[in-house]
Amino acid sequence: MTIFIDTHTHLDFENYNEDREKVIQRALGKNVVALITIGTNLETSRRAVELAEKYTPVYAAVGIHPNDSAACSDEDLVQIEKLAANPKVVAIGEVGLDYYRDHASPIRQQEVFSEQIAIAHKLKKPLIIHNRDAHEDTLELVCEYNAGQVGGVFHSFSGDEAYLEKILLENFHISFTGNLTYKNSVSAALIGQVPLDRLLLETDSPFLAPVPMRGKRNEPAFIVYTAAKIAGLIGIDVETLGRVTTENAARLFKIEI
Ligand SMILES: [Zn+2]
Repeated sequence: MTIFIDTHTHLDFENYNEDREKVIQRALGKNVVALITIGTNLETSRRAVELAEKYTPVYAAVGIHPNDSAACSDEDLVQIEKLAANPKVVAIGEVGLDYYRDHASPIRQQEVFSEQIAIAHKLKKPLIIHNRDAHEDTLELVCEYNAGQVGGVFHSFSGDEAYLEKILLENFHISFTGNLTYKNSVSAALIGQVPLDRLLLETDSPFLAPVPMRGKRNEPAFIVYTAAKIAGLIGIDVETLGRVTTENAARLFKIEI
């Protein structure tokens, strides 16, 4: 049987308000054995934990997204740490730096990111890192605060081969979203360089639906399309890819399958 873990979805988003339960059921129907729903601020992190408590195969990550870091208070970070202690919270995320958008100054983003690396250390939980157009600074903070000790994943990886090597050296995993199925995807050319034991699967749903669903609302069940594409690019069968990436995610996030 081919099984998957969707390591990055935003199940709490209002895009799923009409059919959230069916979305989860459809994922289970495609043998997505676990889903990690990701918080982006205090409110969505709370909702992520609620969903994880309600549905057995759903796990949560809690954190303040760089684009939400301007509005993030010290008290928010205290609350994030409290939420993170919940046994169904398997990671701190998504956190990181996003210089593509200017919702928060780089300095503020760096502060909020480094404080959340500290939370990850304290609770010994891995990081789910969002890095957009901030390669150098993200890596610098990861090294400075020894984030490799807790490890985690650079989700929706967008660096080049040299960057990939550095991230791997820092003990991080890599995942790609459905945009890997798009024509002329840079990531598609890179996938062969990722050691199989460091690769995770994700949808980043509701965003970035893979071909042939491109343009539609994405959902965790669509992970099968990205998985098929990745398996083809690497030259292994989907069953093996699903098994290995599921083992990787289960090990990293301490999820029992
Ligand atoms: Zn995300």
